[in-house]
Parts: sequence; structure tokens; C-alpha cells
Amino acid sequence: MFSIPEYQDFYILQGEYSVKLIVLSVIVACCASYAALFMNQRIQQDSFFTKSFWLFLSSLAMGLGIWSMHFIGMSAFMLPILMKYDLFLTLLSILPAIIASYAAFHFANKTNQSHTSYLMVGLFMGIGISSMHYLGMSAMKLEARYYYKPWIFIFSILIAVVVSYIAMYVFSTLKKYTSNQFIKLTTAVILGLAISSMHYIGMASVVFYVDEPVTVMNHSMHHMDMPLLIIMITIGIFALFIFAAATSSLDRYVEYRLNYFDSLTLFPNQRQFEKGVNNLKSAGTVAIIHIHELENWISRYGYSFGDKIIKAVGDTINENKTDSSKIFRIDGNRFVIFSPEEHHTERVKESVEDILSTLTNSLTIDDYAIVVEMVCAISSSSEKTNVLELFSNCMAVLLHSSIRYKHEVIEYNPQIHTYNLERQIEEDIERAMKENELFIVYQPKVDVHSKKVAGVEALVRWQHPKLGNISPAVFIPVLEKSGKIFEVTNWIIDRVCQQISQWKQENVPFELVAVNIPGSYMTSPKLYNVINVSLEHYQIDSRQIELEITETSVVHDMKNAITAIEQFRKMGISVALDDFGTGLSSLSYLKQMPISTIKIDKSFVDDVPYSEKDSAVLSAIITLSQSLNLKVVIEGVETKEQVNFIGSMVQTPIIQGYYFSPPLSSKDLANWISERAQVPNR
Ligand code: C2E
Ligand code: CA
Ligand code: CA
Repeated sequence: MFSIPEYQDFYILQGEYSVKLIVLSVIVACCASYAALFMNQRIQQDSFFTKSFWLFLSSLAMGLGIWSMHFIGMSAFMLPILMKYDLFLTLLSILPAIIASYAAFHFANKTNQSHTSYLMVGLFMGIGISSMHYLGMSAMKLEARYYYKPWIFIFSILIAVVVSYIAMYVFSTLKKYTSNQFIKLTTAVILGLAISSMHYIGMASVVFYVDEPVTVMNHSMHHMDMPLLIIMITIGIFALFIFAAATSSLDRYVEYRLNYFDSLTLFPNQRQFEKGVNNLKSAGTVAIIHIHELENWISRYGYSFGDKIIKAVGDTINENKTDSSKIFRIDGNRFVIFSPEEHHTERVKESVEDILSTLTNSLTIDDYAIVVEMVCAISSSSEKTNVLELFSNCMAVLLHSSIRYKHEVIEYNPQIHTYNLERQIEEDIERAMKENELFIVYQPKVDVHSKKVAGVEALVRWQHPKLGNISPAVFIPVLEKSGKIFEVTNWIIDRVCQQISQWKQENVPFELVAVNIPGSYMTSPKLYNVINVSLEHYQIDSRQIELEITETSVVHDMKNAITAIEQFRKMGISVALDDFGTGLSSLSYLKQMPISTIKIDKSFVDDVPYSEKDSAVLSAIITLSQSLNLKVVIEGVETKEQVNFIGSMVQTPIIQGYYFSPPLSSKDLANWISERAQVPNR
């Protein structure tokens, strides 16, 4: 293939190129590289599909891209003779491109990336692109022969290797520093150029010749005859794009379902309920149906029996609910029914009465006829109230000692019930601390660019024996009112310090742990002592603690708050201003208070990036905070779009939210951190 014919009387054919098709071929190569990188990234994210599926898909995209580029490049080339191709060899030539792309992406996704792994990627890609090209060349059927100029031939392969190496190096190292989208685009363009430059340099190494001079009649230029191939390429690329888009959407949907829906009854879960009604002001009715002694059925007949009870109750509720009502399954043995209609209270009440009376008739489960006892609490308002308040009212009903759990529908009465919820919380809190009903979960904060865990926030939980999970949003305000919160905060600080010392022993890298400090406690000298004693006792470095305070808590006593914050900062403890933007004051306090960090409230990110106004407000707050040298944490980030938007805007964005992780137990957090360490780009 490299030898020049020995006889002298051959005629070299001069080829010509169609510029439009050359441009098209380069665009196709860049687009395919982009698609491949996009799919390759899914390997590092949680997905319904396996990692090898995404690896295969990205290799397919890359392989198809290299192959299509080659044939569009070939059809850009014209000779004064007829050109055809062998369909079988042509189809076969896609294989080396796919296999090499697979190997290249395999190395590109390795955790410990070094120059050797980039070199492997470069080698595989380069060899893949070149073997595809030269196999594709041998599929040509011409009325001419050809040979290659060896040096240019070698140069074309080298170019493919070197440029692929550069592309992978750029992709792996720069993505830490610049927005992901920009890096993906740049890498795709470099990879696209690697593929096209290899092709066109490869073409420059071929010399086409014939033994007889081309006759005058044939002297016009011919494109390669390949309409069928072009149709196939187009269909292939479209199919791949559609397939990738469909799988991505499916992934998002699966993630959403897992986070916000109960897998047993398929109703939205507590998280969805809280998300939907948090800060929602509406007239309407909330009812909670509480299944009594579910755990007894489970301990007698097993978990699947318990599941069947829940399913049967859920089905009955669904069949009897009013049209405007929505059902949520919260907390294992409870269902919430919420109707946002103003004058529907009576109808909702009738419907829950129907539900309970239907369920009074025995349920048949696994051939056992059983009667499951339950009770329903209901609370309504004809004016706009906070829906969470209606929910708390129902909880107060469920707490009341007069509850007999006998298929009753009990309406909330402020005279009877409110006092009891608060009293019960106050009465039970001591026991809760002693018996570990109260416990702490930790939610990670992640640095978007380095993907490292920048710290965690300690959040308290209460698993009440009668009430189930009580949200801190319900019990913290009650404890604040009664003054019991100070004792609870001391308990939290002690537990957190104990946990830090345990993580240190287990070598769990947790960085900084933030503790929420309630209102007036910040200025109390007692807090300063408690923290000092705990740090001493557990031998902890003060730089591993952060205090989260809210602006509403310091606004009443600015002078002392500033002194207290200064005192903690001097000790090396960071202080963060929590829920920034929800208070009244905001900006003036930022300047005055010696805080280290601001936490931007979830309400500022909810509609980002789709709302232009909200995106602009968020950018402005961040710019301002950074100009004041404050670390910025953005709370309540749930979607990839929000992460991308924040990542493109802030230099060192730290994100806390369900997108990365919900709050986790200390053990789950340690596992989560070690899993991330293995796949650092998630
Ligand atoms: P916070 O300090 O603003 O805590 C953040 C809350 O947002 C947590 O709720 C957390 O679970 C939730 N969250 C985190 N990421 C997301 C997300 O992506 N989407 C949504 N929808 N929510 C997210 P949690 O744990 O229920 O706490 C609620 C509030 O209760 C806290 O708000 C804080 O004010 C208070 N609280 C919680 N634990 C403690 C504590 O140990 N001490 C004190 N004093 N207050 C606490
Ligand atoms: Ca907080
Ligand atoms: Ca907050």
C-alpha cells in the first residue's frame, strides 16, 4: 500500500473538495463528541441504568461520530472517475471506532487519573480513529488505484493520538475550574478537530492513479455515490440522540419518583407534602388518618402483611376521597388528605367518615379477616392559613389523651388540643434526650467545582413513640417558647462533638460540622462555656465547628450579638448567617456582623434558572457576599439545572440540598463520603 508502481506511465488523478461538505463533516464530528461526553458524564451520576450502559452508549455515539465524519468527508472528495463503496466493509469499519472509544472512555473514567491514563485514552482514540479511517478507505471501489505516502500516513495517526490526548487532558483537569458546559464544549471541539484533522491529513497521504489517461468524457468531477449511506448516518445519529434524551428524562423521572413518592402505595410522600405546603397559604382542609398498632400486625405476621394493610387502607382512601383532595403517605402508618377547596370541609369530613366506616368492616389479608383500628384527625380553615399549621393541628389531635383509636373522625378544637401538643412536647423532651428518641442527622454541603464535601449541617430529629417522626419545624418553636431549647442545644452540641471525635478515630473526612443555634442563646455566656467544655472534653479543634444563627435571632440585640460572634470567631469557630434573605433587614447586617459565611435561603433558588428575576437576585446576593469576603452556601438545591446555574456563576459555590443528599445518619454519611471518594466527579 505504500509502494509506488514500478512502471513510469501511470497518471496521477487530482482530487477536489467541496468546502460545504468539509464544514459539515467537522460539525458532525464535534456534535458527536459532545453527545458522547454528555452521555459519558451520566456514568458519574446516579442513574436508573448501569454504568456500563452509559459507557456503551457514549462509545456508540463516539464511534458513530467518527464513522459519519469519515463518510461525509469522503463524499466531500471528488475525483474525475466513478467512486463507489463496498457496503459490508463500510459497515464493518464502524467497529474499530466503537471498540476504541469504549476503551478510551473506560480509561477516562478511572478515578486516579494520571498522565498514563490520558496517554492510554489518547492512544486508544487515536488508533481507533485511524483504523476506522483506513478500513473505510479500503471499502472504496474505484476505477483507479492508490498508494499512501508513508510519512504523512504516520503523521495522520500521530495527530489523532496527540490531539485526543490533549482533549482528554483538558476535559479532566479544567473541569474543576470552569463551568462544566464550557469545558464540555471545548473538549468536544478539540475531539472533533482530532477526528477531522486525522481524516484530512490521511487523505493528503493518498495518491490516486490510473494506467490510462482519463478520457475527456469522464473528465468532470464525481462525488462518491453514497445517498444510501448518508440516509443511514442521519437516521443513526438521530436515533442515538433521541435515545439518549429519552433515557436521560427517564433517569430524572425515576429519581423524582424515588425522592417524592412512596413505592408501596404510589402516593406522594412526606417530603412531597412538606415541599408542596411549606409556606403555602391556603384555605382548605387537612385530615390525617392514623393506623393504630401497625407494628403489632407486623411483628405477628411479618412486613409484607403490614404492607398489605397499608395498601388496602390506601386503596380505600383513594376510592372514597373527594375530587379535589390529594393523598400523601407520611410516616409509615399515616396518610394525609389535603383539600385546598374553601367550602369543602363537610364533604371531606363525610368522605373520611365513609373511609373509616368501610375499614371498620373487616379487611381480608392473606385469608385472615382482620379489623385494623384507626383514627382520623381533621382541621380546616375558611381563611388563608399556613397549611403546615393545619397539619400541626391534626397532630395535636392525635396526641390528645382522649384519643381512643376507634374509627373516629375528630375535629381539631383549639381549646382542647393546642395546649396538649405543646405540653406533650415539653413533657417528653427530657425523656427523648435520655432514651435517644432524639437523634442527629447530617446533611452534606458540597463544593460544586472540586466536588469535595465542604462540611455538614447537624439537624435534629425526633422519633416519638406515639407521634412518629415529629418535624423540627414543629417542635423547635415549642421548645424555644418554653426555654427548653437551651438544654436541647447543649445536648446537640455534646452529641455533635462526640460524633466528630468518633469520625476522627474512623478517619472519616467530614471537614466542618455546623450546629444550629437558636435565637437568644447566641448571646448567652452559657453557650460559650458549653462549647468550650465540649471541645475540651472530646479534644476537638475549634475550626471544625460552625454555628448557624438566623438574622431574626440577632436583630433584637445587635450589640451583644456582634460581641458574641467576635468571641467565637477569635476562638476559630466559624459563624454562618442562616436563612439569609427571609428576614427583614439583611443587607445592613451583613456589613456589621463579623460572620464568616452566609447561607442563602432555599426560596431564592426554587425558581432558578427559569425565572430571570430570581436568577438575577441570586447572582446579586452572591456577588455582594463575595465582595464582603463571605463564604456562600446555597440551601435547598434540588435539581441539576440549579447546580449548573450556580456552578457557572460562583467561583467557589457550596451547595446543600437534596440534589446531593438529604440529611443522613452518621453511619450513612460515612458510607456516602467513602462512596464519593471512589467516584469523585458525582
Ligand atoms: P434549616 O436550618 O434552614 O435547615 C435546613 C432544612 O432544609 C432542613 O429541614 C433540611 O432537611 C431541609 N432541606 C435540605 N435540603 C433540602 C432540599 O433540597 N429541599 C427541601 N425541600 N428541603 C431541604 P429540617 O431538618 O426539617 O429542619 C427544619 C428547620 O428546623 C431547620 O431549618 C432549623 O431551623 C430547625 N432545626 C433543625 N435541626 C435543628 C437543631 O438541631 N437545632 C435548632 N435550633 N434548630 C434546628
Ligand atoms: Ca440551618
Ligand atoms: Ca436554612
